[in-house]
Amino acid sequence: MTDCLFCKIVAGEIPAKAAYEDAEVLAFDDINPAAPVHVLVVPKRHIATLNDASPADAPLLGRLFEVAARVARERGVAASGWRATVNVGRDAHQLVFHVHLHLMAGRPFAWPPG
Ligand code: 5GP
Ligand code: ZN
Repeated sequence: MTDCLFCKIVAGEIPAKAAYEDAEVLAFDDINPAAPVHVLVVPKRHIATLNDASPADAPLLGRLFEVAARVARERGVAASGWRATVNVGRDAHQLVFHVHLHLMAGRPFAWPPG
């Protein structure tokens, strides 16, 4: 997708600090971190929101969690705990319309979220 910020990061057209990369998934530090560890995990293939995902996307979306857990281990926060958040649409504060999992850790989080 030509006009998508995260597609441009995937393509290397916009720089980002990579935390993990393979053929189908990229993880990179959030530019405006909301926690000491704040990493975005994205499918390289453009999917705008979870509303747009098909059953065939399930393995790819599952990999976002697997990569998040890997990065959490590597950043030393697996045991202390971490939050995995996917915002979907306006009310959930989705600003970038390319599916991304927020991995946040390094401080306690409130529940329910704001
Ligand atoms: P959303 O609100 O869509 O769930 O989350 C979008 C996230 O993308 C925000 O946490 C925001 O800080 C992050 N973000 C926006 N623009 C950039 C960018 O150019 N680079 C990086 N690394 N993160 C970005
Ligand atoms: Zn995209």
